[in-house]
Amino acid sequence: MTTSSPAPRADDADSDRLRALLERAAKGRDSQAWSDLWTELYHNGSLDVTHPLVLPTLADMAEADKADLAASALHLAGALLVQADQRYETRNLRHQYASEVTRLLGAANRWRQVTADRNDYCYLVEAALNLEGDIHWAEDLIWGVVSEEYELECPDPDGCASLWVITGERGFFSAAEDYALSDDIETFPLHPADPRALEGLGRRLYDLALADGHEEVARALTYAFGEATCPECEQRFSVVGQIVARSS
Ligand SMILES: [Zn+2]
Repeated sequence: MTTSSPAPRADDADSDRLRALLERAAKGRDSQAWSDLWTELYHNGSLDVTHPLVLPTLADMAEADKADLAASALHLAGALLVQADQRYETRNLRHQYASEVTRLLGAANRWRQVTADRNDYCYLVEAALNLEGDIHWAEDLIWGVVSEEYELECPDPDGCASLWVITGERGFFSAAEDYALSDDIETFPLHPADPRALEGLGRRLYDLALADGHEEVARALTYAFGEATCPECEQRFSVVGQIVARSS
């Protein structure tokens, strides 16, 4: 008796490894399993991100009632989708798993609204942006909000040195050197965006952070969507413009 031929599938050994890692990750408190998933799905691609276990299982984890598990699943799923968009210059993975992406995005937005920790909140916003898939630089944007600094290039075509944009406990300024390494360097005050004048993504993320009770994140975003001064040529430039430039 003949049956319809099965769809092409990943090597059985890889399937077994993927299943084992996902099962360990789903049980929680297994950071090695998550680390291996990141390495093998994201960093070196030795496991296949299109495998039918990957996004459906991550969506199940995101919808379960465990905040840590959901956050880990959402972070990985969002990163995998953005990487696939860029690596293949198609949105095939998003289309192939459209219902899972919808479930993941719904979960990201639910967890975002109930997460009190500042950095956990930021990573959920990053995951939501990655799942939406309209920008590929959410990781770079959010990384600076979490770490309270961006390392950027001046937009001057003649090329000034790298500069640091610092936001947070150490103050709000740009400097030519990593401020952490030196306590006697010239600094230039930042020019945050006027919240009333924010548009587009900046407007949306600012309003979202306020609505979700994260005023300090909203404030940090006015600096990310504001302007900084290059310490070398003293030209003012858009911070987010250079975040985008650095990640493209
Ligand atoms: Zn410059």
